[in-house]
Amino acid sequence: MFFKDDTICAIATAMIDAGIGIIRISGDNAINITDKIYIDAKGNHSLKKYESHTINYGFIVDENETKVDEIMISIMKAPRSYTKEDVVEINSHGGRLIMESILNLLIRNGCRIAEPGEFTKRAFLNGRIDLTRAEAVMDLIHAKNDFSMKNSELQLSGKLFNKIEDLRKEILYEMAYIESAIDDPENYDLTDYDTRLSTQNSKWIKSLEKLIESSDEGIIRKDGIRTAIIGKPNAGKSSLLNKLAGEEKAIVTDIEGTTRDIIEENIRLGDIILKVMDTAGIRDTEDKIEKIGVDLALKSANNADLILYIIDSTDKAFSNENRIKDLIRDKHAIILLNKNDRTESINVLENDIHNIYGKNIPVIKTSMVDETGIDELKKIITDMFFSGDIIPKEEIYVTNIRQKEALINALESLNKVKLSVDACMSEDFYTIDLMNAYAFLGEIIGKEVDEDLIEEIFSKFCMGK
Ligand code: GDP
Repeated sequence: MFFKDDTICAIATAMIDAGIGIIRISGDNAINITDKIYIDAKGNHSLKKYESHTINYGFIVDENETKVDEIMISIMKAPRSYTKEDVVEINSHGGRLIMESILNLLIRNGCRIAEPGEFTKRAFLNGRIDLTRAEAVMDLIHAKNDFSMKNSELQLSGKLFNKIEDLRKEILYEMAYIESAIDDPENYDLTDYDTRLSTQNSKWIKSLEKLIESSDEGIIRKDGIRTAIIGKPNAGKSSLLNKLAGEEKAIVTDIEGTTRDIIEENIRLGDIILKVMDTAGIRDTEDKIEKIGVDLALKSANNADLILYIIDSTDKAFSNENRIKDLIRDKHAIILLNKNDRTESINVLENDIHNIYGKNIPVIKTSMVDETGIDELKKIITDMFFSGDIIPKEEIYVTNIRQKEALINALESLNKVKLSVDACMSEDFYTIDLMNAYAFLGEIIGKEVDEDLIEEIFSKFCMGK
């Protein structure tokens, strides 16, 4: 069943031993069920008497009225709560065992364990937030940099929703006007209507194009630049990685993967994130366990947004690699002439590189020993990918692929409207495309989405949210 109206519970804080843990309960029976396991300082089951939006002292007790924990408990009665249902939050001690014991008591008394994201899903299904805001909640929790945090907050405040809703209202108005004119030509005049619609439509198209354009940058700002470091064994790939990671006190995380060769590392350079791909291979090279050269790295480089091609400038056997030439032709690429500290034995010069790979490719002399070129590398990457400030002031970026796809579909429909208007087709011809654009925009805010999609979106949430 899509909407379940039972009462759910979950541990909302992390499952680690901590000072405080929060157990959240939501649903029609939240107060009744929790009251069975709660007593106040005088030993009374008094939860039902408390006013909404208060926090109260007391104890959790089991079936024998034996105290399990000393707690603070808050009550938020419907509809003024996160889910628009009755919500109770127990602030217990943050030990895993204690939190689990309380959760088990709730389940024994009639609660069901919440699915991941189910609290937010209820907030959405109960009409408190639209889908862009729900997705912003998830983005905020998973934000890896200041940009994501700020953008999610803007989205949470309804900035994207308002933009989309305004567009939808305008499209709806025109659709209604056309329908009325077709039904009631005496009162609604369609003379010169084409001109009016054409002006409106161009405005909508521009606004969608701007949002779509922002998304390429937005997604990269939020999720990071997929980066491949390639080069012959011993060129200095892992030294570069360590330098980037170490110097900036990087958040180095292994992204879950089923095989070692799809492991990525997120390296934070100030506000930019580099998602360095295939570093398992690079690290192995450093360990000298397995020498991995250009071949393996080439595979991941095909999917990268950025290629860092590192060349040992003291390499006497350096020669043109056609495969690399082909690979970097249409990509953002930077060539690093490494080991520049060994001036006495430099063999590969900037000029040679420009002759092989073209004049336009940035070439930096680097040394992983004295850190030459690292700042320049960061600056080139920033200029390559970002226009203006990295952290937007009030501008909202679309950072979600689902939303981007819906925008592209809406734009396609509006472009069809333009073709029909330009070809002087009759009005009823393009109302269908207007309708489609309206529906695609509706998908973004969650007005026209099917159950499966909703399930999929919320299943990516964490427990207790
Ligand atoms: P990889 O095989 O491409 O990952 O290369 P490594 O990063 O493992 O480097 C190979 C060797 O070159 C190591 O001994 C490094 O210490 C050394 N190395 C890397 N970068 C530099 C550099 O800029 N200058 C000098 N002198 N040695 C370097």
